[in-house]
Amino acid sequence: MNDSSHRPQHADALLSEELQGAPTVVPAQPTHTKKLYLESYGCQMNFSDSEIVASILDGAGYATTRNEEEADLILLNTCAIRDNAEQRVLKRLTQFKQAKRNRPKLVVGVLGCMAERLRENLLEQQKLVDLVVGPDAYRDLPNLVEQVHGGQKAVNVLLSREETYAEISPVRLDANGITAFISIMRGCDNMCSFCVVPFTRGRERSRDPQSIVREAKELFEQGYREVTLLGQNVDSYKWNIDNKGQIKNADEPVVRFAELLELVASVHPDLRVRFSTSHPKDMTDDVLHAMARHENICKYIHLPVQSGNSDVLKRMNRGYTREWYLDRIAAIRRILPGCSISTDVIAGFCGETEAEHQDTLSLMREVKYDMAYMFKYSERPRTLAERKFEDDVPEEVKGRRLREIIELQGEHSLAGAERLVGQVHKVLIEGVSKKSEEELFGRTTHNTIAVFPRGEHRAGEYVHVHATDRSSVTLRGTVVPAP
Ligand code: SF4
Repeated sequence: MNDSSHRPQHADALLSEELQGAPTVVPAQPTHTKKLYLESYGCQMNFSDSEIVASILDGAGYATTRNEEEADLILLNTCAIRDNAEQRVLKRLTQFKQAKRNRPKLVVGVLGCMAERLRENLLEQQKLVDLVVGPDAYRDLPNLVEQVHGGQKAVNVLLSREETYAEISPVRLDANGITAFISIMRGCDNMCSFCVVPFTRGRERSRDPQSIVREAKELFEQGYREVTLLGQNVDSYKWNIDNKGQIKNADEPVVRFAELLELVASVHPDLRVRFSTSHPKDMTDDVLHAMARHENICKYIHLPVQSGNSDVLKRMNRGYTREWYLDRIAAIRRILPGCSISTDVIAGFCGETEAEHQDTLSLMREVKYDMAYMFKYSERPRTLAERKFEDDVPEEVKGRRLREIIELQGEHSLAGAERLVGQVHKVLIEGVSKKSEEELFGRTTHNTIAVFPRGEHRAGEYVHVHATDRSSVTLRGTVVPAP
């Protein structure tokens, strides 16, 4: 189905001289006199942000260490999506008490969504915290750390309508040298009533597509073979056009998510492209056609549903109905047969009746997801739901409903993996299997892990694996010649 008629005319125009040939210029390395220890919590966006933070502090002379004992600066990049995520960080902070006593010059800071949500209060509540910095203020880090060295606590939680850190080359942390994240936008304009993200990450803004393609090209040159494009809602990515559809600069092309996908896929056919997270109300057929045209755009979509009942979706302010969602699923199945689909589901949202819960189960039976992230509703301060609705579903009912959702998904995930047994899958090798030095692992285009005997192969290679068995949702098999 790869018909070029849909290919955006200006794609090559955007792949400018600079991106089509000239070697990447490696900037001079700063001298590292200090050590940074960085811990990340929460979503992929946070892990990607930590790589930006490491790069900004690299420029200020901080080398990143995995050993907190030798750190001059300890930063926790936090998540605020549910209460237990914050409790984990508060518990972790207490473990630095002794380190602060032993090393009085040690600076401890909290970054990310929890920092943005709690602001100065975090300094009052946690005496050992010196620094509180929100997701849009990381450029200010070197200055804020100096402020702490000067004897003051430091806070910057200003949110921005422009900041995308576009020109900052991330320092790849925990990198396997094969797969990497590329953030394409920041913030979110969807005010889902249960979600804190719009308050902790601000308004939506998209990053310059040239800087995204440049980063993908640099990664490919460094040996990476897969990039995941990240955004809270990638389907609303847009460049050079405003929310009303007005073109900002007539001399520049307009780039939406479908076009951006094709630009990144055009960097090299051996560079796999994944993306997360999609939004059912904004996901267009253009995106699906773009995926169909490029073998290297992986056939896997994460499409959060949250609930299978339209009244609950209305209370969640999700912007779509059960019918609209199922139509999107039908479009995926029509345009991308065999595409793997995963989702997010919340059990026990405000006012959820037993019948509404059953609608979630029946939708899951209709879609048969390959994988899902499933949670109990956790009320968050300042959200629309906290202000408008009662968190009235008893904890034990939330727990029972969540168990039913997890059980059902377990059956579907196994059946999904079973369907892949007996087939040959193109796998990008990511590394050595945790269980045996003699085995390698990688993922299929469907985002399924495959494990197979090592042979002469190594990470970064593409191989074809004949799946002969599966253990829960991991495929097992042997390398065979390309079909
Ligand atoms: S789309 Fe909704 S759930 Fe997702 S980050 Fe935005 S507000 Fe939160």
